[in-house]
Amino acid sequence: MTSRPPPRRLQATCHCGNIRVDFDWPGAWPAIPVRACGCGLCTRHGARWTSHPDGAFRLEVGDPALTTRYRFGSESADFHVCTRCGAIPIVTSLIEARRYAVLNANTFIGVERAQFAETASNFEGETLAERLARRQRNWMPEAGPA
Ligand SMILES: [Zn+2]
Repeated sequence: MTSRPPPRRLQATCHCGNIRVDFDWPGAWPAIPVRACGCGLCTRHGARWTSHPDGAFRLEVGDPALTTRYRFGSESADFHVCTRCGAIPIVTSLIEARRYAVLNANTFIGVERAQFAETASNFEGETLAERLARRQRNWMPEAGPA
């Protein structure tokens, strides 16, 4: 009988530590799939995104005055930018009163790069409804109240 390994508790932070994300990553996948998004912002930033629909995240911001929530395009996602150090550890999308997130794998603490499996993605041409449905399926939901 095999049992699933317990989820790993991981952390993503901006460079200065103002934006911190604690999240649980279920142990079922051997590698963390990361995708380089082809949109203009992510290309400029070199961000690589990942999420696990069975995980859960908690977002903590030290000083909210030192963050910006940048939106563009369909304006359905918030890029949480630290204005002190410029890093973007997390993007959230509010769907049916629940927040879902993708995390920037480049901001993970203590995760070997060898554990990332690169994939490409292109979501051009999606309708907004398709986009939100995909996020609800694939993005990581926010943890409930502790
Ligand atoms: Zn920062």
